[in-house]
Amino acid sequence: MTDLPICPGLFYGSRARDGILSRMRIPGGILNVTQCLAIADLVDRYSTGYVQVTNRANLQVRETDAAIPPSVWQDLQDLGLASHPVEIDPIRNIMSSPTAGIDRAQLIDTRPLVKAWDNYLQTHPELSELSPKFSVGFDGGESVSIAHLRNDILLAAEKNANSTIVFRLFLNGTNTGNILELAQCIPALAALANTYLEYSKHRPIVDSKKPRLRHLLADWGVTNYLKRVEKQLPFLLSKSSIEPLPKTIAPYGHLGTHPQQQSDRFYTGIALPLGRLKSQQLRDLANLAQNFGSGILRLTPRQNLLISDVPYHQVCELEKSIARLELHSSATRPDSCLVACSGSSGCASAATDTQSHALKLAEDLAAKLTLDRPINIHFTGCQKSCAQQKPIDITLKGIRIEKEREVVEAYDIYAGSNELPFGRQVFRGVTVAEMPGAIEKMLRLYQQLRDPNEQFGEFADRADDFRF
Ligand code: SF4
Repeated sequence: MTDLPICPGLFYGSRARDGILSRMRIPGGILNVTQCLAIADLVDRYSTGYVQVTNRANLQVRETDAAIPPSVWQDLQDLGLASHPVEIDPIRNIMSSPTAGIDRAQLIDTRPLVKAWDNYLQTHPELSELSPKFSVGFDGGESVSIAHLRNDILLAAEKNANSTIVFRLFLNGTNTGNILELAQCIPALAALANTYLEYSKHRPIVDSKKPRLRHLLADWGVTNYLKRVEKQLPFLLSKSSIEPLPKTIAPYGHLGTHPQQQSDRFYTGIALPLGRLKSQQLRDLANLAQNFGSGILRLTPRQNLLISDVPYHQVCELEKSIARLELHSSATRPDSCLVACSGSSGCASAATDTQSHALKLAEDLAAKLTLDRPINIHFTGCQKSCAQQKPIDITLKGIRIEKEREVVEAYDIYAGSNELPFGRQVFRGVTVAEMPGAIEKMLRLYQQLRDPNEQFGEFADRADDFRF
């Protein structure tokens, strides 16, 4: 592995500061027990014994020994943990709601669509010529929505005037106004991907990289792109004049225990601080899923996971078993909604060691404060902000400052959503030692001065008056 790519896959890791970083695509984030046990054994043998759930519900393995033998890859392919055409592997994971198929609010179960699109990718290796950042998401109308998360192409379910379930097409986050019937979704995705491939051949490199879908949209425009797509389809893309209703977003609403669509079945969302799981915790969670549920773990784009299909009479016992693994399902503990990019231990662009600072902050806050609402705290080692899915409550952006004639790690702290990209700057150049006190002050003011139903972001947007 001399020439490692920037976007990691499983077969071709990318080089991070702390070694080789590999990533397993887990379509829809769904893992069975056998897969979990195989992953736990892999990270024990070749890495540092932990995996990390990413913000696309992938699994990331850090500090891997580069010399993993081909027989191991073969085993992972046989278990469905790696693409069969190796070239497809770096393409971004297919995203769907972690509660697809079990959510009480869902309009349609999108798991068959995830499977069908993954099959299409696996049988069309020519699509590996696309940017590895090419991403597709399916939202089935679940309460645990992914409709607001980053995807090049999103198909979001809604009911039309005849009460039939159809899918609205979004490109790079923009509603095209086009509507697809269920049977049209995979052919339309194929035509969208193939037309994007034609564009990529015509313009192979943009800023030293393969072109993103957004470059195509900027060059061709949505209308021209979709005209070319239509030429590849046996049907016309229909339009809807109705605007979709805005969805309420509760990013961590899936933590804790919730009733499923299936009677007498519940799912429990378990918090994983920074998405980290020790190999033994992964084995133990897989066993809990087997003993209490249907043997399935569902990874979420919020870097945590669910155990589903638990009968009501076993919910309490499952929660006790989770606590014995030193994990919990609360959305209001400071480590529940914590997000950090790789930071200086893994990324050369990072000004600070975001991961260790984030965990230390959560520990400090837990000792001093009791939160009554989920607060999302986001650490980024530079402006790029690889790790975070919006909305964000508080962002800490790593910087270096000079203090007593030494260059030290520090943070600029932002809150709310009024200003891009992270909200309003509340504190500038706060040292690592001062940072927990600054965050504690912000949270205490929020708890003391907010309106009864005010979210942290709303409070921060009007908190100019309070000068945090
Ligand atoms: S946000 Fe910046 S520092 Fe963090 S992983 Fe991305 S590029 Fe590296």
